[in-house]
Amino acid sequence: MEINNDISLQRRRNSAVARGVNQTHPIHVLSASNELVKDVNGKEYIDFTGGIGVNNVGHGHQSVVKAISSQLDRYIHSCFAVVPYEPYVQLCERMNALVPGNSNKTHLLTTGSEAVESAIKIARCHTNRTGILVFSDAYHGRSFLTLAMNGKIHPYSAGMSIGSNDVFRARFPNEAKGVTVSDAIESVESLLLSDIAPADLAAVVIEPIQGEGGVNACNPRFMQFLRKCCDKHGAVFIVDEIQSGTGRTGCFFAFEHSDVIPDLVVFGKSIAGGMPLSGVVGKGEIVDSVEKGGLGGTFAGNPLSCVAALAVLDTFDKENLLERAVQIGVLMRIRLDDIISNRGLIANVNGSGAMLAIELFKDLDKTIPDPELVSEIISRAREGGLLLQRCGPKNNAIRFLMPLTIGQDNLAVGLEILEKVIASSIQH
Ligand code: PMP
Repeated sequence: MEINNDISLQRRRNSAVARGVNQTHPIHVLSASNELVKDVNGKEYIDFTGGIGVNNVGHGHQSVVKAISSQLDRYIHSCFAVVPYEPYVQLCERMNALVPGNSNKTHLLTTGSEAVESAIKIARCHTNRTGILVFSDAYHGRSFLTLAMNGKIHPYSAGMSIGSNDVFRARFPNEAKGVTVSDAIESVESLLLSDIAPADLAAVVIEPIQGEGGVNACNPRFMQFLRKCCDKHGAVFIVDEIQSGTGRTGCFFAFEHSDVIPDLVVFGKSIAGGMPLSGVVGKGEIVDSVEKGGLGGTFAGNPLSCVAALAVLDTFDKENLLERAVQIGVLMRIRLDDIISNRGLIANVNGSGAMLAIELFKDLDKTIPDPELVSEIISRAREGGLLLQRCGPKNNAIRFLMPLTIGQDNLAVGLEILEKVIASSIQH
């Protein structure tokens, strides 16, 4: 952290905030609007991080702000489990309609980790089994069960004694890393022979596009295999769309690219335009396996978050943001491929639609990751007015989760900064 644009605030943070809380950028935000973030020293940045994929409709979208402020005048909290309210019901109706099937039911929560756990609760009640099948390089959250589901120990769960929680890990298909769809299928099949009997399998949980794991799009054939595998063994097929959903890839949910219908879909992050909200939507006959009172929480489906989410869904329709995600994705891929070849970068472009990352390597065979170059690019980009974020099991990828509402001009400016910074970091 070589620059520090507000030394006294940074010093206060260092002494007041727990060390375990990460800090990508040594700046503090003063205000933010759509794709722009201003820090406490008045410096402005183009935001390609979107608060880790939470600002798909931009910072402070007016429809979201208006919905929250008028809800503030009505009521802030009554607890849906005590005195229910319409925005929660309306949002469940809207989410049910976004997933194929006419028996869908939804429930709302606050964080992504909580929603993944809620989906597992449903699967365990439905099947009377406990086994959970997950994948290499997965990320599902920071609660104890989801920590056990993650494919990375440091920094998420080191020293925390997470236990196995009946979690079993197969390989995620990733051609760039030499894991073919057949390899991944074989790993599931051998796990079901040697580690967990299919009769004990409650659920298969997969991110259709892994986020933290390096922005890896799952091959549709593998998604189809998993659907069949769940049907064959009576397990619940759960997709974690917390990062890949809310329109990021040009479909509202990324599983739509695979021609499968999951049993349960977990959503969060961008769904409420920056307000904390998550949930699970899926087949009513499965969802209703949990008895009354078995799902929820004090703040689950907070009214302010519900109205914000309804405004986000309206904004997707009004501003054609699914189409925009496709356009951004096409443009980004062209420019990223250009930058890589112009600058002689050894890199892969990963992802789908507007959920993309570049993964950097030191050697032409792309076997030695280059996390140091990623660090340098991220800090130089910030100096140049562009906010970036890293990801990947080896920390050697830069991911792009800019608002889908970003202006064409700032998208181009951001990419110019990126190219310049890459050029100077490589020479360095
Ligand atoms: N699943 C996925 C795919 C995620 O990307 C994340 C957050 N990065 C989570 C779960 C956890 O969400 P939260 O941080 O809101 O608990």
